[in-house]
Amino acid sequence: MLRVTTSKMGNGMKQIRNIGVLTSGGDSPGMNAAIRAVVRTGIYLGYHVFGIHRGYQGMIEGEITELKTTDVSNIISRGGTILKTARSKDFMTSEGMATAYAQLLKHNIDALVIVGGDGSFRGAVDFFEKYSIPAVGIPGTIDKDLVGTDFTIGFDTAVNTAMEAIDKIKDTAEAHDRLFLVEVMGRDAGYIALNSGISCGAEDILIPEEETRLDDVLERIASDERRKKAMHIIVVAEGDDSGGIEFVAKAVAERFPGKDIRSCVLGHIQRGGSPSAADRVLASRLGYAAVCGLAEGKNQVMAGIVNGEIVYTPFKNVIKSRLPIQKDMLNMIKVLSI
Ligand code: ATP
Repeated sequence: MLRVTTSKMGNGMKQIRNIGVLTSGGDSPGMNAAIRAVVRTGIYLGYHVFGIHRGYQGMIEGEITELKTTDVSNIISRGGTILKTARSKDFMTSEGMATAYAQLLKHNIDALVIVGGDGSFRGAVDFFEKYSIPAVGIPGTIDKDLVGTDFTIGFDTAVNTAMEAIDKIKDTAEAHDRLFLVEVMGRDAGYIALNSGISCGAEDILIPEEETRLDDVLERIASDERRKKAMHIIVVAEGDDSGGIEFVAKAVAERFPGKDIRSCVLGHIQRGGSPSAADRVLASRLGYAAVCGLAEGKNQVMAGIVNGEIVYTPFKNVIKSRLPIQKDMLNMIKVLSI
């Protein structure tokens, strides 16, 4: 059981006084709740907490300000991130990292909490190898594709946003007997597609982790046509190997020339909006756990929740492998859509 501790840095490393917190990579709903938890836990434990704006790019450019408890008032319900986020090419160069380190020295920051995805943790590993700044990560990505945690901050909200949109599309699809293809986010990961598709009763779900056989997709449509099933919803992850939603739509139109077919790309609405209760609780627990972890001397690990318990997984393990998709869910979709 994780407890707040006052014995700081029991592993012989320099005692931490000032913690920098940043959000990096793609934004996800719930990042603000994580920032709030980091700031308040840090202050509770006697640290100064500094917000590093615009991820690693802001670290390089010295966009660093101290955060007090009131600076994070009433942000738990807000999407986006008050610290803003960025993808930084400069941080991937030796010069960029050296400048970032100089900025941390200037602000006396001696530990980091990084809210982001695997790319952000890869950056933290490289940075630690050069400059030995302790860091604990928090999984903040809508993709849920990280090992070491059952959920990532923002995934639940993004799935619910996609589900609500697809429900609406289903209403109009049914009214016109249309076939709809709906693209959801997921360049490399199919979790949003899988979960939003299942929760809407989609007829087919195409994801990057599973080879898409267009013939099978077309055959399932043909089967529905024979059974006079009027509405057919296909959820497509943006990174699916089929060639993308327009490619699939074209193939369907060629095979079923009389069919009324529409495509809809949900896009960035999936990143925004007020985080769900599940994401707010997850972000609060992980923000608290990240700072407690630093206080206990943890370093180069990501705080996650597995089977309801806080666990710390080394960054090197998190970035080494991808979370495998649950194949039984793919089989289930075929059964439930008959
Ligand atoms: P998401 O899953 O939402 O895309 P992410 O954290 O994986 O989030 P990335 O864009 O992959 O997003 O990574 C965020 C930033 O981390 C990059 O813009 C870059 O600044 C830094 N980064 C990624 N890989 C490295 C690396 N090998 N060395 C140094 N920095 C890196």
